Amino acid sequence: MTDRAASDLDPADLDAVAVLGAGTMGAGIAHVLARKGLRVLLCEVDSGALNRGLKTIRNNLQRQAARDPGLEVEETMGRIRGVLNREDLAECGFAIEAATERLEIKQQIFRDLDRILGPAAILASNTSSISITGLACQTGRPGKVIGMHFFNPVPVMALVEIVRGLATEAETYDKTRALAVRLGKTPVAVNDAPGFVSNRVLMPLLNEAMYAVMEGVATAEAVDEVFRLGMAHPMGPLALADLIGLDVCLDIMRVLEEGFGSAKFHPCPLLIRMVDAGWLGRKTGRGFYRYPG
Ligand code: NAD
Repeated sequence: MTDRAASDLDPADLDAVAVLGAGTMGAGIAHVLARKGLRVLLCEVDSGALNRGLKTIRNNLQRQAARDPGLEVEETMGRIRGVLNREDLAECGFAIEAATERLEIKQQIFRDLDRILGPAAILASNTSSISITGLACQTGRPGKVIGMHFFNPVPVMALVEIVRGLATEAETYDKTRALAVRLGKTPVAVNDAPGFVSNRVLMPLLNEAMYAVMEGVATAEAVDEVFRLGMAHPMGPLALADLIGLDVCLDIMRVLEEGFGSAKFHPCPLLIRMVDAGWLGRKTGRGFYRYPG
């Protein structure tokens, strides 16, 4: 690792950034990139998902603009171009993949990005748990593949875990770190392991809280109150699971279970049932809590 400052790095590389996936995280990432003056190509699989993502960004910018009169919503939105064809991403010097947490989806995206983007482009993944080294070997540029793990909600949360795969080059790390700093985030370096640091520690907590509800030890409200009042967590584990998305939580538990081969990461049956029922948390209006509207 070197100590080069963000200003030492060539900002030309960062002129246009590709973001793949316009869901909870992709929309948030595009939002902060555009707010910092970067051009964004936001890529989705269909126009419905793309339009939902663009609408979310606009709504969130409008909310921010109510508190920050200097924020120009239309000018910021003008820096984000929605695309449905990955071939349109060729001009980007940096890509951040924030698609659904499924290995096959991400592997295909990395193969395509490697083919489409210029050879110097950095390919980052916002994955919560999938191996960066495993994604890197889908490409002919493993040294330019890295994890850039943002937190939800992206415009609010300061942390970005920067995940180095086995082959990630120092220059890739420096540039990714510089981008995180340019976005006003605080990067923390971690190495590639299932769930990195954040989800390896957090997800078993959320999963165990779900067991407590399933076994009738306490209601969701009571479990969350224990953590808010007893441990000074700003939000209890079940409210947090609803915010993250229960499908995302389940996907991460499965990656941890497979990665460590340990029963301690077995997903709670209640979590599996809720995902089967389509109760995915805030994004569907129902999870451990209900979200009218
Ligand atoms: P989400 O379900 O809200 O959004 C995923 C989006 O990806 C969907 O809109 C889907 O249409 C799109 N997508 C699927 N395949 C695609 C493809 N081939 N190309 C482009 N888009 C595609 O999920 P999310 O919560 O935004 O999670 C996205 C990624 O971010 C996952 O890897 C997840 O683990 C990670 N992550 C999530 C959180 C969180 O709190 N939700 C936090 C950190 C990281």
